[in-house]
Amino acid sequence: MTPMHCPNCNTEVKGIQQFCINCGTNLFPSKQTTTSKSSDTFIMIFLGYLLFNEIISFAIRKFVPNWYEAPAQYGFILLSIIGGATIFLLAAAIKDKQKKTFAFVIAGVHMLYILYMNIDWLMTGF
Ligand SMILES: [Zn+2]
Repeated sequence: MTPMHCPNCNTEVKGIQQFCINCGTNLFPSKQTTTSKSSDTFIMIFLGYLLFNEIISFAIRKFVPNWYEAPAQYGFILLSIIGGATIFLLAAAIKDKQKKTFAFVIAGVHMLYILYMNIDWLMTGF
């Protein structure tokens, strides 16, 4: 494998580094931009969901009489499940492979917890 050189000052680049040690040129500008852009999108979706969840929960509690009974409770269960799913989006936004795997495990456990918490409610609803 031929050693990589800085496109600006021609200094040899050892190992994986983002910036040239001699002149500070960004060695992987395009790659860096695309990754952070996709992460931003995931985070925006997550923030958008949090707001959406709050508005819907508020609307159900405010305008649906006996909101804790069926069928409004199914709306809450659905919101919780979608909320659990958005955590997978955040996990997907992590660049580091090991951390990403760990984040997916956390998201998975959280999803199981949501399903477990709602299963009694689902059973008694019928
Ligand atoms: Zn350089």
